[in-house]
Amino acid sequence: MADRGLALRGPRSLLRQIREAMAGGGPAQARLDMVVRIIAASMVAEVCSIYLRRASGDMELFATEGLKPEAVHVTRLRPGEGLVGEIVRLGRPLNLSDAPQHPRFAYRPETGEDPYHAFLGVPLLRGGRTVGVLVVQNRTSRHYEEDEVEDLQTISMVLAEMVAGGELMGQEELKDIELAPHRPERLKGARFADGLAFGTAVLHDAPVAPERLLSENPAAEEARLHAAVEVLRAQIDEMLEGHHLSGIPYEVLETYKMFAHDRGWNRALDEAVRSGLTAEAAVERVRGEQRARFAQARDGYIRERLHDLEDLADRLLRILMGETPGGRALPENAILVARNLGPADLLEYDRTRLKGLLLEEGSTASHASIVARALGIPCVGRLEGLRDRISEGDPVIVDAETGEALLRPRADVVEAFKARAALRAQRRAEFAKLRDTPALTRDGARITLLMNAGLAVDLDNLEETGAEGIGLFRTEFQFMVSEELPRLKAQTELYAKVLEAAGGRPVTFRTLDLGGDKVLPYMQAEREDNPALGWRAVRMGLDRPALLRMQLRALISAAGGRELRIMFPLVATVDEFRAARAMVEQEVAWAQRRGRPAPDPLRVGAMIEAPSLVWHLDALLPLTDFVSVGTNDLMQYMFAADRGNPRVSDRYDPLSPPALRALAAIQAACAETGTSVSVCGEVAGRPLEAFALVAIGFERLSMPPAGAGPVKRMILSLDREAASRGVHTLLRSPASSIRNEIETLARKLNVAL
Ligand code: PEP
Ligand code: MG
Repeated sequence: MADRGLALRGPRSLLRQIREAMAGGGPAQARLDMVVRIIAASMVAEVCSIYLRRASGDMELFATEGLKPEAVHVTRLRPGEGLVGEIVRLGRPLNLSDAPQHPRFAYRPETGEDPYHAFLGVPLLRGGRTVGVLVVQNRTSRHYEEDEVEDLQTISMVLAEMVAGGELMGQEELKDIELAPHRPERLKGARFADGLAFGTAVLHDAPVAPERLLSENPAAEEARLHAAVEVLRAQIDEMLEGHHLSGIPYEVLETYKMFAHDRGWNRALDEAVRSGLTAEAAVERVRGEQRARFAQARDGYIRERLHDLEDLADRLLRILMGETPGGRALPENAILVARNLGPADLLEYDRTRLKGLLLEEGSTASHASIVARALGIPCVGRLEGLRDRISEGDPVIVDAETGEALLRPRADVVEAFKARAALRAQRRAEFAKLRDTPALTRDGARITLLMNAGLAVDLDNLEETGAEGIGLFRTEFQFMVSEELPRLKAQTELYAKVLEAAGGRPVTFRTLDLGGDKVLPYMQAEREDNPALGWRAVRMGLDRPALLRMQLRALISAAGGRELRIMFPLVATVDEFRAARAMVEQEVAWAQRRGRPAPDPLRVGAMIEAPSLVWHLDALLPLTDFVSVGTNDLMQYMFAADRGNPRVSDRYDPLSPPALRALAAIQAACAETGTSVSVCGEVAGRPLEAFALVAIGFERLSMPPAGAGPVKRMILSLDREAASRGVHTLLRSPASSIRNEIETLARKLNVAL
């Protein structure tokens, strides 16, 4: 403890000195020189140096006390080079009693660092990235004490903020220093919701910037921290008990709990607070260190745990700052950036300002993409490494046509993009003009265009698209975006609202299609090896009828004597449909016994999603009032390719003889029995696919709102007879895909695609 300087006085007085030195102004270099001098004196160190990261990734010596001044701005260490490179790689301090003995030590003669043995270097962390390294050195060989390391970390945190805030150097000098990634980058992901957007990145889980980094009263901060940790633990316990329904999977909550009680994490927080940081700054610092450390991890499991720790740190910060998640003020043209979003998260943001969404993870079927599609917000997901590559406030393009995110795009790229967006807007305006034009083919076939929906927010689209009704209302969406099981009243209210908004246009309510991958956080679900083939949809409804009964009751009550169309998902056998239909009839009778009106007319239908039904339509159709083909599932089962798995979901083409022959067979069977049939899978909303569907005889298509304009334009340009002849010929092809042939045919027939 002989030459302990800093810890005795504490970093606060040192930082005050640094601030005072800075207040004098003067050239940036002189101020940095002063800073290293003060730190060296305070730590009784013979050397103190600051290295900052250049855009190339090199670490450049920016100021030193003790090494040769000629080395400043000359000594540069490539990424990974020397002890400084090692600190960047590790993302944590390196404390060595004899630095030259370390295998990574890189001797640079210009620095004259030969006589120094003791070495302590800490990363300057900002937003989890190492933007520089602060080093102290002494001649005598010794290990620095733990609190010296702590203190230097506190100083480095404050220095990182000062560098970034331009307090230590002017904007000119800062230009080439990489505080955050600043080059243009293009990340490839997956399209979750179509569209284009350009705006400013807003991080959903932005580090809540600690306004005050340094505390005046460490004991009081420690008490605040402990109180907040207690609240955090209580919140997690509550979530685990299921009283407060969070949308977070049970295993993750258990991991939260483990971390919240983890001694290492708590000790790191305590130490940071004792070193003079505010509780918020302490959380930030510990989080930054974890991030930097785990950033190297290739292992998916470890990276997952880091995410959990980050979420936990966010929660703790919010508790400390008395904030609630979401609901933040957004800049105009905000592009929300998140790892993933939970149920309803997106709905908390101001929709007039939110223009796009980028997700590091997620899937097309995830809550966030469902809501994004409903709101018409372009969304690209599965952008690996997104959060490490983007900072709050970065300009960013969401290109959900190609499935890309363009971070910090160059001016010419932005210009080209704006031209594309303008063209798109122009096309939309043209589609809007077609809104009230009936969808008639050139040879006079009347096609009914319907819309898929699932949330109250979708309903505006009905007017906008001019759809003739809702061909598929996915009732499970309400369950997926709710924090708890929607009760009878909430369900009835939503269904009534939908019927109201439809204003007499038919609405087909599909009963709950839950289970499989659509697991609700508040419902106990058993793990299944093959969820898509598992206990889901109508199977669940029939085995555990309470939920389905409640839903049917809500639908009947919402209809209040008007027309009611109910459709059952994933029916695989005729018996299942019979049983489901019987339940509807029982519920109608139940309502009538209570003097309530029966829906009039009542129509009950089945989705054709299981291939088994395709071969039993003669038995099924007489029992149904209508059917709708769910091509998303039908194709997944026909081709044995999980629709949610990008590795296999694109291996087959719905524009192929087997797929189209099956669809044609369904259409023919329905025509023979006079059963109303529609297609409500995603294909119905794509012009080329819709061309093929109309050609093989389908006259009712239900699609996502964005498909309505392009599909109507296609229909208006279509000669159905000619298309039908052409496509039927192509169906005989031995090829696995006839996409190109169908497109050539459509072009030959001058169809607007
Ligand atoms: C389908 O499977 O095609 C369908 C429309 O239902 P969902 O996408 O909701 O499974
Ligand atoms: Mg389906």
